[in-house]
Amino acid sequence: MDSPKNNTKHTYFSNTEIAFKNKDNGDLKHSLWLFRLMQNPLLVKVFSKLTLIAIKLHLPISVAVKATIYKQFCSGETLDESQKVVKHLGKSGVGSILDYSVEGKDSIEDFEHTKSEVIKIIHIAKGNPAIPYTSLKLTGIARHALLEKINPIAIGTKQELNAVEQKEQKELYERMEQICKESFACHVPIYFDAEESWIQDAIDMLAEEMMRKYNREDAIILTTLQMYRWDRMDYLKKLISEARKEKFFIGIKLVRGAYMEKENKRALEQGYKSPIQLDKQSTDIDFDKAVDTCLENIDIIKLCAGTHNEASTTHLLDQMKKLGIRNNHPNVYFSQLYGMSDNITYNLADMGYNVTKYLPYGPVKSTLPYLMRRAEENTAIAGQVSRELKMILEEKERRKFAKMLTGTNS
Ligand SMILES: Cc1cc2nc3c(=O)[nH]c(=O)nc-3n(C[C@H](O)[C@H](O)[C@H](O)COP(=O)(O)OP(=O)(O)OC[C@H]3O[C@@H](n4cnc5c(N)ncnc54)[C@H](O)[C@@H]3O)c2cc1C
Repeated sequence: MDSPKNNTKHTYFSNTEIAFKNKDNGDLKHSLWLFRLMQNPLLVKVFSKLTLIAIKLHLPISVAVKATIYKQFCSGETLDESQKVVKHLGKSGVGSILDYSVEGKDSIEDFEHTKSEVIKIIHIAKGNPAIPYTSLKLTGIARHALLEKINPIAIGTKQELNAVEQKEQKELYERMEQICKESFACHVPIYFDAEESWIQDAIDMLAEEMMRKYNREDAIILTTLQMYRWDRMDYLKKLISEARKEKFFIGIKLVRGAYMEKENKRALEQGYKSPIQLDKQSTDIDFDKAVDTCLENIDIIKLCAGTHNEASTTHLLDQMKKLGIRNNHPNVYFSQLYGMSDNITYNLADMGYNVTKYLPYGPVKSTLPYLMRRAEENTAIAGQVSRELKMILEEKERRKFAKMLTGTNS
């Protein structure tokens, strides 16, 4: 197929029959209702506030949340419950990145529990093509404040840790080591997610350390680069140069970044230069540049493009073609969040590309911060909801028409 980049009518991702083949009419109706609700920013704000109050008052809201927004964006409360979704996606050639989505927990028991859960995922993923990777948020196994304290040390600025913090740091290393060692032994690659810039140097340092140790023969440990930061292209080039010199493989998940408002607000309040690019276009340009750089170094890089942006995904497809990289090259993956941009995911799978859904699971209450981010993101991103809505409406029309022609729901 020729590049559809400049053709607004037809893109690689506009086939709604393929996009929604896993959704029956009831599922489609539910998504339509939810995305319509999320189009209203005021409603999303009120929902977020009321939910937080209801949790504080211990009101039984889990059932209502589970039947609505949770159902759209999460796969289940437990690993077992999520297997149904994993199988469902697997049937269409879509892999699952299971993410134990528990945020804002700060006790040793919570960190140990998250570690055990990630190790369980690694064991389930071993030799299972339906789960080609897994992921790790370092704030799931260590305190955010501890990572913030380690951050300046990571870039060589002196910062003392007290005895308690030193013990905590040692425990963080032990948890991380156990997870990475298991990933290596089971040959299940693991992404380190990217988080706020004021803990990201610490995350980069730890991810690099693990890549140097475990990526001698293949990329098992993968890091994440947020291209809404103006310094990430330089970081990518530095990492590639070091990997070539020291002979280790690297894993890169490219994303635009999820914490923009928070980053700009903090920079303004504390009077330092924001790490965020000047505008959206600069982020888009760097995302595509990073794609090009990764493809040029595909002999040592395992790339995952974590995006819902059709132009960037089209750019990656075109560049692969140009460089003669086959659709299912083992070092190129595409990934979207569960519940979003099914048109990209399923059409890519249909064309034989490696594609995954990022699949959060966990108790309803613990996934609320994640769900609120999704609701706010779907309200905030210009065009996103209308794009999702437009696709769902198109598919409803197509099904209605097909039913009229054949008398069936094709
Ligand atoms: C599989 C997967 C894994 C992910 N993992 C992570 C992760 O580890 N860490 C993380 O932070 N995020 C992660 N994300 C979320 C991601 O960073 C984005 O928030 C989200 O995907 C939206 O970006 P986009 O490329 O899909 O689409 P788009 O709609 O094209 O881009 C929206 C994004 O552009 C950027 N942007 C918007 N306005 C501006 C502006 N004025 N100036 C500069 N930049 C701007 C912001 O990053 C915004 O989120 C992940 C997403 C996916 C799909």
